[in-house]
Amino acid sequence: MPPTKKVVTPSSDPLQQPVQFIRGIGPERAKDLNKQSIKVVQDLIERVPRTYRDYSQFKNIMQAQAGQVETLQGRVIGVQEQRFKGRMTMVKVLIGDGSGTAAGVWFNQPWMAKRFPTGTKVIFAGVVERRGAQVQISQPEWEIIDEEGTSDPINAGRIVPIYPLTGGLNPRDVRRAVKFSLETAAHLMPQTIPPYMVQKQRLLPMPEAWRNIHFPPGDAERKTARETLAFEELLVLQTGLALLRQQTTEEAVGVAHGPDGEITKKFYMGLPFRLTDAQEKVIRQVALDMESPKPMNRLVQGDVGSGKTMVAVAALAKAVDSGHQGVLMAPTEILAEQHYLNLRRIFTPLGVEVVMVSGSQTKKERESSLGMLAMGMARVAVGTHALIEDKVQFQDLSLVITDEQHRFGVKQRARLQNKGITPDVLVMTATPIPRTLALTLYGDLDVSVIDQLPPGRKTVGTYWRTESARRQVYDHLINTEVASGRQGYVICPLVEESDKLQAQAATEWYEKLREQYPQCRFGLLHGRMKPDEKDRAMEAFRNGEIQVLVSTTVVEVGVDVPNATMVLIEGADRFGLSQLHQLRGRVGRGQHQSYCVLITDAKTEEARQRMQVLQKCTDGFSLSEKDLELRGPGEFFGTRQHGMPDLKVANPIADLAILERARAEAMALVKADPALRAPEHQALRTAVKTRLGDEFGFVLVG
Ligand code: ADP
Ligand code: MG
Repeated sequence: MPPTKKVVTPSSDPLQQPVQFIRGIGPERAKDLNKQSIKVVQDLIERVPRTYRDYSQFKNIMQAQAGQVETLQGRVIGVQEQRFKGRMTMVKVLIGDGSGTAAGVWFNQPWMAKRFPTGTKVIFAGVVERRGAQVQISQPEWEIIDEEGTSDPINAGRIVPIYPLTGGLNPRDVRRAVKFSLETAAHLMPQTIPPYMVQKQRLLPMPEAWRNIHFPPGDAERKTARETLAFEELLVLQTGLALLRQQTTEEAVGVAHGPDGEITKKFYMGLPFRLTDAQEKVIRQVALDMESPKPMNRLVQGDVGSGKTMVAVAALAKAVDSGHQGVLMAPTEILAEQHYLNLRRIFTPLGVEVVMVSGSQTKKERESSLGMLAMGMARVAVGTHALIEDKVQFQDLSLVITDEQHRFGVKQRARLQNKGITPDVLVMTATPIPRTLALTLYGDLDVSVIDQLPPGRKTVGTYWRTESARRQVYDHLINTEVASGRQGYVICPLVEESDKLQAQAATEWYEKLREQYPQCRFGLLHGRMKPDEKDRAMEAFRNGEIQVLVSTTVVEVGVDVPNATMVLIEGADRFGLSQLHQLRGRVGRGQHQSYCVLITDAKTEEARQRMQVLQKCTDGFSLSEKDLELRGPGEFFGTRQHGMPDLKVANPIADLAILERARAEAMALVKADPALRAPEHQALRTAVKTRLGDEFGFVLVG
């Protein structure tokens, strides 16, 4: 069957007009726009410029400075065309403004010659070159001035928007299409911010904000437009969060857990070490939350190796003591398995049954786990996101903990939460979340920080080495560390494109090392291995059978083998700072001095910077701030992983002040109009539903 061709038809709603019907776009260019998810006029309006060029300040030709970006205007004096050897052509358009003459030059675009009839008034903008008295700009941005004054220039002679482009799109076409979209539809853009709020906050009405973000008359107007759009995005998000909070905490009464009982006390007595003051402080905060009938909603931040697991265990013990069930969810099979082993070791002697729920279990194992949870025989469950499936039911779930929570979306967390009747919620993460982001992501969330490492920990020595030093580095790992009874990791370079390639690369590396160092027992771990193979490899590494584990990033978070003292990271420049810090955190978890070696030739300046930052800085908090600076919040967090809507304008770090204003307004608004029924809140209501509906499934049902 031939592929059916989708017919695009014009819309009577200017906002929903498919882009191919915009003059100058057509089906071919529409395809390029579609690739950037721009389907209709409204999408085009909502895609804000990446940056701007200021071509608004005119200079006399005589005063134009070589090497500077200048904007010139004059009348066309003449056009010269030249043909060179081969097929190269050059078009030179001469203009004069009374003070001198300047040339706009185009190579291999012979059609440009016809664009500039003599006498036409034009603007050229770009980097000026001077050849003696002759001023010249290569490939200038240009605009023909409409002397009747019916249309404004959009490509030069003003502040000009720059859009991200793909395929055959040329900037002039895109600007013209945006201009068309604004002229036909800006006045129809939804007024999401209620009019009274626009006034109070001194913002712009939405149509004006959209016009000015694309074609700002001046810098002040551009700033106010940006502020308005950022405010709008954050208002929608904060309104969603306020509604969520209203439904999950204020109305709801949660479980009031009892004081510490037998199990909790026995757990403390059986500990092989003393808790740090920081651990004790956080455990106390969690216990108070759990004893209160108000549902707990707490984030525990603690750098890698600070001992967050103990906080989870203490909370689980308390839930069980009060006759309820608790669950701990981890982002990877390997981490879930490790938690399972840990929890079983602690809880089984206390007569508390722990079960595992993961995608890799056999059907029989899985059913046995589910049965025990539903009937209440098992009091604690550990697992991966397999836990959020509908089939998983609890007899009486009162505590939900997610470990390394930055990997779960709002929605996944909410689904797990819904398995209990407003259970207490604890999220644990090693990725410090600046207050701004925490507010953006969670609205109100209490934060506890484990700001201390267990005693005796030594700073992990971090060294950046180029590939030419690889041999020495491996020799040290095998002949010094392994030879004296320690263990190590070799992390293979990140292959973004495919799991399969990554697994392949790891396997090859593993084979090569085995050949090179036959005296060492290597093991292999990657995402393509079967779950029981992974378990076996981890088990063998834990008990020392494997001395050096060659692995992909599957060991990135959480893995805890205190005897490992050296981690070699191959292709270190491919990883972000936070990720490298996590990987480094696999060592230095016991009393032995540990090392992390970053192996890369680091070809770019940015990569070199990252390596240097990592060598100097061992504190996760300042690293994550650096990471934010270097990569921006989107990259840093992967907003999508959070189930956050993409922020197109607002930057939750830089826009803290706007965020707080939007948040205060959202809270007041939801308090006054809890179902968003007032007519002036309709557009906001729609925006919350369409932008957040998917993630916050239970907000504004109906
Ligand atoms: P993370 O915060 O990275 O999740 P873990 O909970 O895995 O850290 O703990 C890291 C290691 O430190 C584990 O081997 C754990 O047994 C050990 N540990 C935790 N708390 C203490 C403590 N108070 N004293 C000594 N060792 C501890
Ligand atoms: Mg952990």
